[in-house]
Amino acid sequence: MSRPAGRVFCLAKNYAAHAAEMNSDAPAEPVVFMKPASSVVPPGARIRFPGHGGELHHEVEIVLRIGVGGRCIPRDHALAHIDAVTVGLDLTLRDLQRDLKAAGLPWEACKAFDQSAPVGEFLPITGPTELDDIEFGGWVNGEARQRGNTRNMIFPMDVLVAHLSNIWTLEPGDLVFTGTPEGVGPLVPGDRIEVEASGIGEFAWEIAPAESS
Ligand code: MN
Repeated sequence: MSRPAGRVFCLAKNYAAHAAEMNSDAPAEPVVFMKPASSVVPPGARIRFPGHGGELHHEVEIVLRIGVGGRCIPRDHALAHIDAVTVGLDLTLRDLQRDLKAAGLPWEACKAFDQSAPVGEFLPITGPTELDDIEFGGWVNGEARQRGNTRNMIFPMDVLVAHLSNIWTLEPGDLVFTGTPEGVGPLVPGDRIEVEASGIGEFAWEIAPAESS
């Protein structure tokens, strides 16, 4: 059984091609934001279209789970603190995010709303795992939207874990969304989104039809 999520850390702009599609430069150091653990949605759940924005975007991302906690973890020990991996969605209200960015305001309303963190089933890491070469992608109603590989992360997983642990004492059950590749795009009521990662699995969620949201 997987333990309940602790905190949900998320990386912004960790793939250069996605930073470019957002008309943004690649960051010089990791950019972190958080979602509440209550935003996590298990595979297969139906997602209500949020009522406080109009442009709901998928961001398909590899998600790490922290097993052994720690603070100020050295980079060369960092991978040993990851006990499981899966693929999920950093759901984002893009229109609201544009407004908040333009006004210099925090991102919680566009990133950390209810059900904004669909997460697949975690694959436990029991031995050496090639976390730096995971192919993953997302499809909406069967149409390919995003394709990525963790080898293209600007800040790889050991750097992310070390960086986070310098700011927060990591705890078992903390999750880390590691950033999205290019190809983010809209989801509308009635859509079905599938995500898949090589060696991990495939998971799907449905956006509730408008009449029931
Ligand atoms: Mn993201």
